[in-house]
Amino acid sequence: MARSIDAKCRKCRRAGEKLFLKGDRCFSPKCGIVRRAYAPGVHGKKTTKGSSEYGMQLAEKQKIKRIYGVMERQFRKHFEEVKHKHGTAGDLLIARLEMRLDNVVYKLGLAGSRSQARQLVNHGLIAVNGKKLSIPSYAVKVGDVITVKQSKKEKNYFKNIEQVLKNKKDFPSWISFDMSKMEGKITGTPNKDEIGINVDPQIVVEYYSR
Ligand code: SF4
Repeated sequence: MARSIDAKCRKCRRAGEKLFLKGDRCFSPKCGIVRRAYAPGVHGKKTTKGSSEYGMQLAEKQKIKRIYGVMERQFRKHFEEVKHKHGTAGDLLIARLEMRLDNVVYKLGLAGSRSQARQLVNHGLIAVNGKKLSIPSYAVKVGDVITVKQSKKEKNYFKNIEQVLKNKKDFPSWISFDMSKMEGKITGTPNKDEIGINVDPQIVVEYYSR
């Protein structure tokens, strides 16, 4: 367990910035990148050389994939889903990632990290419009209602999270939350200025358009 936790911090240290993969710890002085602000491994403290354009594109793609916890095939699939849509491909790509069901569960505060949110979805604890939906990559739509499955609400995990949610204020503008029902509703589409992470998805579009 400790090993996999450390592996997440290594990803941040490799990227050279916080990717927020471990919930509350990421905002504390215990954050791996605060404690050791250099790349992992024996060469980590050496000055890095300038990177090629291709290298930059690759690094940005890796960073976004790590933040959302998606593998290459899935990530590429998301790109294919949006590339012919009307609008800026980079913005559409990030909106698609934001609207993944696991990300929405994380943004609702039902999980402390995206990977934990994915587990909740995978284990069938989350319902969309009243029906269990165990597909983390599912794209939520405006009007969708996201809840904890009724039969799972009594679990200790959700009892504890209820306390945290009572103080939560930072819901994105495109999601509303009804505390009394522990219910989130998708009211719009994500605005890239409020996703809270420093990424440039257009660089990824350039990578895939090579
Ligand atoms: Fe670890 Fe900090 Fe990255 Fe969070 S932001 S995963 S604590 S290095």
